[in-house]
Amino acid sequence: MSRSFDVVVIGAGPAGYVGAIRCAQLGLHTACVDEWRDADGNAALGGTCLNVGCIPSKALLDSSEQYHKIQHQFPAHGITVSGAEMDVAAMIGRKNSIVAGLTRGIGTLFKANKVTSIHGHGRLMPDNAIEISDVSSGAVIETVTAANVVLASGSAPIVLPSAPFDGSRIVDSAGALDFEAVPARLGIVGAGVIGLELGSVWQRLGAEVTVLEALDTFLPAVDKQIAREAQRQFTRQGLSFHLGARVEAARVVGEEVQVSYSDKGGQHRLDVDRLIVAIGRRAYTHGLVHPEAGLDVDERGFVRVDAQWRTNLSGVYAVGDVIGGAMLAHKGSEEGIAVAETIAAGRGHVNYEAVPWIIYTAPEVAWVGRTEQQLGEAGIEYRSGTFPFAATGRAQAMNDPVGFVKVIADARTDRVLGVHIIGPHASELIAEAVLAMEYSASSEDIARTIHAHPTLAEALHEAALAVDARALHKAN
Ligand code: FAD
Ligand code: NAD
Repeated sequence: MSRSFDVVVIGAGPAGYVGAIRCAQLGLHTACVDEWRDADGNAALGGTCLNVGCIPSKALLDSSEQYHKIQHQFPAHGITVSGAEMDVAAMIGRKNSIVAGLTRGIGTLFKANKVTSIHGHGRLMPDNAIEISDVSSGAVIETVTAANVVLASGSAPIVLPSAPFDGSRIVDSAGALDFEAVPARLGIVGAGVIGLELGSVWQRLGAEVTVLEALDTFLPAVDKQIAREAQRQFTRQGLSFHLGARVEAARVVGEEVQVSYSDKGGQHRLDVDRLIVAIGRRAYTHGLVHPEAGLDVDERGFVRVDAQWRTNLSGVYAVGDVIGGAMLAHKGSEEGIAVAETIAAGRGHVNYEAVPWIIYTAPEVAWVGRTEQQLGEAGIEYRSGTFPFAATGRAQAMNDPVGFVKVIADARTDRVLGVHIIGPHASELIAEAVLAMEYSASSEDIARTIHAHPTLAEALHEAALAVDARALHKAN
């Protein structure tokens, strides 16, 4: 007899595993099916985020930043270190062990919450049956049934037809997390989040990095003033950006990749040792649903859902990257929680207005809410205040007085509409702004909140004061 569950989640990334845990917490008999295998062929939970995304990239960002600091920051503190060398194999090994520990941790969480973990490829059949097959052989292992199915199958890198991945010299982000040596010349297609983060990693370790970006604008989704400062800082660090670049061909010739591209200036050639292609991600739905089930997807392949994450199929929901929107781990996790609450109690909620974005470069870039451009386009009147980290004692003490905070508030109600940060620890500072927005705070609320001294958070406090032209540590 086939096993039967209240909920079967397909995919154990941040959307799926969190959703499965929340379902179990709510008393639903839950299974989570996942097909990910690590380099040794063992099941590994956590999806893209834990295996080849958020966590490994941040591990490498941290290692490379330490190395960079020894050379470029330590002397200012009076510390001389000679002979510092980067052992790339050790750095990758550290990254791999962090990933292994965290992916194992999800198995432990599943056990603690009584989520049944099933390794295999899940395929939704008509009538909410889920066929589970062996990832290597494709042989069907079992078929389970569920009253509710949650599709959380994630995303995969978009392939650029003129520069197809070869797994060695032309790689996606996953390949770029496993280079066995620092490439002397690294090309990157796409000046997006991945291009900037992984470009920073290898540039700090000594690679000469050239980024080819199709658009004429650098980070168009980011507040203009912040994007300008980011481009200036990254260029100063040595990243070379070519905007408006159209990659026509990339060929592996011997030990190098020859890239032909064109821009307003004409035709160009770029020869590199490795090429990372990071031009965005698409929904991953390969073999996920039997065609007879008739799942509705949009023109870009994302699973279509309503405001309660219901697909067109009865009892079938979808969350995370596979439904599009912000392709972020925390956005997926919140949807996982919300869908569990929809299934158990009829209603879940995600505040899409308060999803933080972070680019983990140095300086870090972080924002929540709307940009001045977006508010201008929507015809919403606003006031904004900025404050530079250079005017805070803490950033000076840290020898990191780079960047600024911008607070944007509704001109009429003073409600905070967006907060944008470039600077040290922006990834941590943004949490206060997210909470402020979640609580519908005004800039006056932040301005009247005591911020400890000396902290970087004082820059957010001062930017909120600056909205009303009453910052204390700069001229208004
Ligand atoms: P995924 O994490 O992709 O998980 C989907 C899972 O489903 C996978 O394990 C997959 O194997 C499994 N699966 C798919 N189909 C089936 C099937 N039919 N049967 C069984 N299993 C199946 N986001 C952040 O918020 N912060 C970051 O710092 C960050 N850094 C990133 C860095 C990189 C290099 C990349 C590539 C992404 C990064 N992201 C980051 C994005 C983040 O990884 C994704 O938004 C997140 O992983 C999406 O979660 P998900 O659960 O929707 O899908
Ligand atoms: P992205 O959307 O951030 O950036 C892709 C860039 O490639 C864009 O600037 C786009 O204009 C450019 N591009 C598109 N087609 C091109 C072409 N043919 N030639 C040159 N440039 C081209 O995508 P990504 O960097 O691949 O990352 C994918 C997603 O993963 C991100 O959008 C984000 O959701 C997630 N991610 C998040 C983090 C984080 O939260 N820190 C880190 C990494 C990835």
